[in-house]
Amino acid sequence: MEDKELLRYSRHIVIPEIDIYGQEKLANSRILVIGLGGLGSPIAMYLAAAGVGTIILADYDQVELSNLQRQIVHNESSLLKNKAQSAKATLEKLNSKIELIAIEQEQDLPSLKELTRNVDLVFDGTDNFESRININRACWSNKVAFISGAAIRWEGQVSVFDPLQIDTPCYECLYPESSRGSLNETCSETGVVSPLLGIIGSCQAMEGIKYLCGIGAALVGYVSYFDAKKMEWQKLKIAKRASCPTCQGS
Ligand SMILES: [Zn+2]
Repeated sequence: MEDKELLRYSRHIVIPEIDIYGQEKLANSRILVIGLGGLGSPIAMYLAAAGVGTIILADYDQVELSNLQRQIVHNESSLLKNKAQSAKATLEKLNSKIELIAIEQEQDLPSLKELTRNVDLVFDGTDNFESRININRACWSNKVAFISGAAIRWEGQVSVFDPLQIDTPCYECLYPESSRGSLNETCSETGVVSPLLGIIGSCQAMEGIKYLCGIGAALVGYVSYFDAKKMEWQKLKIAKRASCPTCQGS
């Protein structure tokens, strides 16, 4: 590591659990952020600032005026641009020493299986069940961990799913098919208070840095719920379902 990098990441390196070895792990990591919206913005910005070596940014959508209330990786000059490209432009200014790859295509299960094949960690910044289920299945088939987040109105949640850990639940254990109908709300219908995305997305980034440094994510097999009105967190264990179509037997 060069002197400039030692200085740049010095606030990490002085932390005993991270040290120079953890910082090198971050530099050698390749991660995928799916969705560059309200959650993907702080995730990608913190991980770029933290020195994660390769960040793949995937989003097929365009930046709209109503996104700027909370999607802080974009700005007024990004309007009508592709979100992955817009995020890449912001992150290049934040850290020119890392590799940034923008993927503009819409993702389905086969393309997600391809995208998740050679990455160390995946971040789910999407806002609908179909995408989350596909991310879960792609990650489980490639045995790669993913960090899930969701936020609506005043409430959010964070979880880490790691198929490499024995007997650990997956996203579909938490949300089996029968439970999804009534839960499929998006923030375009119900609204979301903008800093909530920063809180939840930053927790995803925090779990990611711990995972990549080998410190261990605290939320593997757990879901942590946050209530912004009360400023309270509640951490619950997720039960592994014997009938789960995705992780059963793995
Ligand atoms: Zn499962």
